[in-house]
Amino acid sequence: MADYYTTLAIPRTASDDDIKQSYRRLAMQHHPDKNNGSKESEDKFKALTEAYDVLRNPQKRAAYDRYGEAGLRGAAGGAGGFHHVDLSEALNIFMRDFGLGDLFGQAGGGGRQPAGPRGGADVKVDLMLSLAEVATGVSKTVKIKLLDPCDRCGGSGAESGTRPKRCTTCAGAGEVRRAQRSFFGQFVSVAPCPTCSGEGVMISSPCKSCRGEGRQRGEHSLPIEVPAGVATGQYMHLRGVGNAGVRGGPRGDVLVMFDVGEDDRFERDGEDLFTEVLVSFPQAVKGADVEVPGVLGPMSLRVPPGTQSGQLFQLRGRGLPRVNAGGTGDLHVRVQVWIPKELSKDEQAAVEELARVLAPPPEKREKGFWQSMKEALGA
Ligand SMILES: [Zn+2]
Ligand SMILES: [Zn+2]
Repeated sequence: MADYYTTLAIPRTASDDDIKQSYRRLAMQHHPDKNNGSKESEDKFKALTEAYDVLRNPQKRAAYDRYGEAGLRGAAGGAGGFHHVDLSEALNIFMRDFGLGDLFGQAGGGGRQPAGPRGGADVKVDLMLSLAEVATGVSKTVKIKLLDPCDRCGGSGAESGTRPKRCTTCAGAGEVRRAQRSFFGQFVSVAPCPTCSGEGVMISSPCKSCRGEGRQRGEHSLPIEVPAGVATGQYMHLRGVGNAGVRGGPRGDVLVMFDVGEDDRFERDGEDLFTEVLVSFPQAVKGADVEVPGVLGPMSLRVPPGTQSGQLFQLRGRGLPRVNAGGTGDLHVRVQVWIPKELSKDEQAAVEELARVLAPPPEKREKGFWQSMKEALGA
């Protein structure tokens, strides 16, 4: 398995822009429509797209940088997680990010599309989620505006009582072949039929409702089952429920982009959560049960006697579920000793008394303190 950076011919320090540009350049070169479906360029195109799909996603890229391909199979893969892309996915990814205009420009089509109506465009919808919804997974309904097959003509684009006719220019094939002579002999070029734009059929009397396009606007409620553990930037790919194609073409896809709202009680790192609680000096000295925030409600943490300020505790399995994998992350709780800035008279007196009787701190920390401090800080 070639390294993704090598595949895209970029250094490991490449910026998002570098990644996009290099992919675009190489993918256009190896796009199957430009290479008469050669197996070799098809494989190259798939490999390029897979590398691009991972490296353009910051979370997947970080996981890949640390653990290689293995890092993409676990938690970091996420919804629509890691797998080898097949050709249609690769073509979809390329289309989604660059469109076909980019590929063919003014040069004219490469004509590998079969005759028939074209598929509808993909639609992106954003879905806001709270951290609590991420913790449990949730069923949601999104309202979405789509193009539907026209009611009047059933999507054919032809006025009722008439039918689309076979295109006379291309005899229904959707493409025209032109034999040309050159110094090297005769060669044949293939292009989409200019009369029917490659559809193979012609409409002599267009439907009065949709003017022959075969589509009309509609609004839909789309039910979405959000799996637990998803993160911002991950998405769900719902195939075949997007916009209807022109004149009976198949529906495109819907991409549901997840956007998880910030919860200022928590920092999130994949499936792990970090939070902080404050304890008083006596609580840290004597130990105490303190309440810590959990995604699904408060929890209790036993702070043992002699707890240091900044000490980190782990509540195993109280983080977020791993998406596309088993298990749940942890909740890491940093305990900080609260130092009040203003004191009541009684408190003032008590602190004075404490100052009188309490031994001064040792000159040196216990052995091992700095090590555990570093660990607590995540170094
Ligand atoms: Zn119509
Ligand atoms: Zn035609």
